[in-house]
Amino acid sequence: MDCIFCEIKNRKADAEILFEDENVIAFLDIQPINYGHTLVVPKNHYDNFLTIPKDELSKLMQATQFIAGAVKRSMNADGFNVVSNNGSSAGQSVYHFHFHIIPRFNKDFSLKPSFKTYSSGAMKDYANQVRTFISKYRDIYYE
Ligand code: AMP
Ligand code: ZN
Repeated sequence: MDCIFCEIKNRKADAEILFEDENVIAFLDIQPINYGHTLVVPKNHYDNFLTIPKDELSKLMQATQFIAGAVKRSMNADGFNVVSNNGSSAGQSVYHFHFHIIPRFNKDFSLKPSFKTYSSGAMKDYANQVRTFISKYRDIYYE
């Protein structure tokens, strides 16, 4: 399989590795939004947030929390974003699931999109669309 993150995990490609345990590896993003921008990656290959098994996601999340604290403090950041891009429309470019930890500094840049407004009754319609799926799949996918 041609996956840069699997290659990094297998030491077939170089990276500035910050942390590793049985389940997770974290390294610096090669194209940082701010210095210290870190990727936290499950060692097993899953395409995205929907395909990683729950127990592995839980371990990945715990590692992400720990590493986010370390990145924030070591970079003297004011805050940070934890982001996961899923699908090309959302900006995903590496199809091995990962979290970005992006250290943030007061007034560094704005990520704000233009906001939409629900027209009258539309908010309920959108909510119903999602609720229909949730009630159909809840017992199958969410225990
Ligand atoms: P995404 O666009 O959410 O899939 O994020 C993929 C990230 O991986 C991007 O921010 C890239 O800069 C980063 N990336 C790609 N190749 C490498 C690499 N060899 N080492 C470190 N980061 C990488
Ligand atoms: Zn991979």
